[in-house]
Amino acid sequence: MESTTRKKRILITGAAGFLGSHLCDRFIAEGYHVIAMDNLITGDLRNIEHLFPKPEFEFYHHDVTKFIHIPGELDYILHFASPASPIDYLKIPIQTLKVGAMGTHNCLGLAKAKKARILVASTSEVYGDPLVHPQTEEYWGNVNPVGPRGVYDEAKRYLESITMAYHTYHGVETRIIRIFNTYGPRMRLNDGRALPAFIGQALRGEDLTVFGDGSQTRSFCYVSDLVDGIYRLLLSDYAYPVNIGNPSEISLKDFAEEVIKLTGSNQKIVYKPLPADDPKQRKPDITKAKTILGWEPKVDRAEGLKKTYDYFKALPESEWHKQPK
Ligand code: NAD
Repeated sequence: MESTTRKKRILITGAAGFLGSHLCDRFIAEGYHVIAMDNLITGDLRNIEHLFPKPEFEFYHHDVTKFIHIPGELDYILHFASPASPIDYLKIPIQTLKVGAMGTHNCLGLAKAKKARILVASTSEVYGDPLVHPQTEEYWGNVNPVGPRGVYDEAKRYLESITMAYHTYHGVETRIIRIFNTYGPRMRLNDGRALPAFIGQALRGEDLTVFGDGSQTRSFCYVSDLVDGIYRLLLSDYAYPVNIGNPSEISLKDFAEEVIKLTGSNQKIVYKPLPADDPKQRKPDITKAKTILGWEPKVDRAEGLKKTYDYFKALPESEWHKQPK
């Protein structure tokens, strides 16, 4: 007998970006109908072109700061549209604020109208340059609203606030994820973040640039671990923010040395002045993710870095030399 149950329908904004494209893959694999939306301001259709032939996949070229119309039913929304790397949001600060504010507002309105559950992508940047280490979800952060990074940090703080307001006042089912540095295939080599920057320099045979003295720390989460955390949080019943990231912390100097070792290159590290408001320490406390979602990262840095390096190495050499858009 033919089944009458329909596939769950999920809207993914920022779908042509690094994380959004991996989310499209995961939800297609889980049997969902995926409605992907992106205005391609920092994304790339090549990240999702393999999904275009699938009938359970559709793409809307649309700016989420404009009214969103999706015909038919909708069960879930993943709101991931936003410039995410400093090089992008310093270049397009107003769009960054708009997508965090108006884009999130539009997505929440759509969730309310369709009675869909919505998960919004927040960030460890809401903790700013943290005075508490590691960062728990209870920490309110140390953000400079008028510093250059303020456009991103405050956009995401507003995103959390309006999401909570829709939950409290309109009863919308909301989820908030605070994502810590994530890496993997489909990042852009030229997006200015430390990991692709180091790999790009190694591939081009250049010395690796470390800002400051390299003692500032980061913790890097491999993309498949993050996607699993998002999947679990979406299906959980927890409405408050949850940190997802890999607590394994490393200084940028040590990390640059790991990349040099992995690539077998003989480049040196060169030091340049630290940009304004660069966070000195970043490490998630993932107790909530462990207890509420039963989640913890599985891919260690050596394995994730190798997979990411292999991905970039396989790209045409012209890609290694691309300058930021
Ligand atoms: P990305 O730049 O690769 O992807 C973002 C996507 O959003 C791009 O495809 C871009 O074109 C699209 N977009 C931007 N503004 C839009 C708009 N107004 N309308 C429609 N589409 C728009 O970045 P990413 O690393 O995949 O990040 C995705 C999300 O995750 C962002 O919300 C970001 O803030 C969040 N996040 C990422 C990280 C990380 O480590 N990658 C960490 C914390 C938070």
